[in-house]
Amino acid sequence: MKATFSRLPVALRPINYVLKLKPHIKTFQFTGSESIEVEVCKSTTSVVLNSVNLDLKEATIKVEDHDIIKACNIVPSEELETVTIHFPRDIPRGKGYLNIEYIGEIGEQMKGWYRAKYTISEGEERYACSTMFEPSDARRCFPCWDEPAHKATFDITLIVPKDRTAISNMPIASEKNIEGSPELREVVFERTPIMSTYLVAFFVGELDHIRDTTEMGRLIRVFTPKGLQEHGKFALNAAVKSLTFFEKYFDVPYPLPKVDLVPVPDFQSGAMENWGMVTFREDCMLVDPENSSTSRKQWIAIIVAHELAHQWFGNLVTMEWWTHLWLNEGYASFSEYLCVDSVFPEYEIWTQFVTDTTFGAFSLDSMKNSHPIEVPVNSPSEVDEIFDEISYNKGASVIRMLHSYIGDDVSWLNKYWSNLCLYRKPNLKSIIG
Ligand SMILES: [Zn+2]
Repeated sequence: MKATFSRLPVALRPINYVLKLKPHIKTFQFTGSESIEVEVCKSTTSVVLNSVNLDLKEATIKVEDHDIIKACNIVPSEELETVTIHFPRDIPRGKGYLNIEYIGEIGEQMKGWYRAKYTISEGEERYACSTMFEPSDARRCFPCWDEPAHKATFDITLIVPKDRTAISNMPIASEKNIEGSPELREVVFERTPIMSTYLVAFFVGELDHIRDTTEMGRLIRVFTPKGLQEHGKFALNAAVKSLTFFEKYFDVPYPLPKVDLVPVPDFQSGAMENWGMVTFREDCMLVDPENSSTSRKQWIAIIVAHELAHQWFGNLVTMEWWTHLWLNEGYASFSEYLCVDSVFPEYEIWTQFVTDTTFGAFSLDSMKNSHPIEVPVNSPSEVDEIFDEISYNKGASVIRMLHSYIGDDVSWLNKYWSNLCLYRKPNLKSIIG
């Protein structure tokens, strides 16, 4: 019988994940150690988490001053992408720690924590390990409440070869050598702000970087393949200008201490807006100063602006469930034009909006299998289907119409908005993470 999908039970709520991961780049496996600070809201004998292809070795839970309870049975469900951890007695209510030891795979499928092949100048093939968790593949890297509404903070530690660069959402807090393993080092990253699992990211590989700071003092680093720093200069300039634009336009400070732009050799889409560590397909970020065309530079400016808009739309303010994906993608797709028009006025980028964005939406919308901008999503396996021209381009086109009508000055609207909120509170909740 086919199991039916349902959202995760909410007897436990994650507060903070302490994740320690050690990739084995030769065997493409990793060992994971996870300690999740949780609030047990309702006494229960089992905990259901999302998990795919992870081999859980043991799990324990300890709540306040009660005894440690060791799991008596761990049951994965491939179909539901969950693992149910059974305990021999009730977990008492209160705050505690769920500890899990497990082994995972650094896969080839460009999702979860995966390997990306690159060639060094001598022709030798090597692998970087990068993440792609949107929409629902954090569960391939660590057992978690892998739904956008289950926000938590993250303390990430990576144990990596000494000659590799390790990057994550936050800056490095500390590094140390590992006794008995002279080739390895332990890299501890600062705690993230509260965020959704699909935005967690890390990368281990060989990269150079260049850096700059915005007017407001935010650090921006652009990573490049070894020896190609020159190819990162355009993206760095675009990122500095775009982040400055958005901070002023939204009048909400960028909440992290830095943002990194990281090119990944194998990448399934154009880019991914991980908070503080945006990943890109190499040709969507790197500009060869000798050979890249103006249209390539425009395209990269648009992508950089799109991903940096997401640092607010999606990362800071997040949809409660994937049904509202267009609020992420429609707004980012509209804001990329708003930003590029301001920071690269010479491109006259709005002249391309109708042909590049609205016509793209018409094309899919003319088909029988089109769908409303907001479409009910049940299982996360259905989410991939709506990363399409409707959510992005039709969403952006509708928002552009609204923006043309309302304008940038919303002071008159604010007055009415506060009244409107009194009547619409339940709906507003769905977009505020
Ligand atoms: Zn996007």
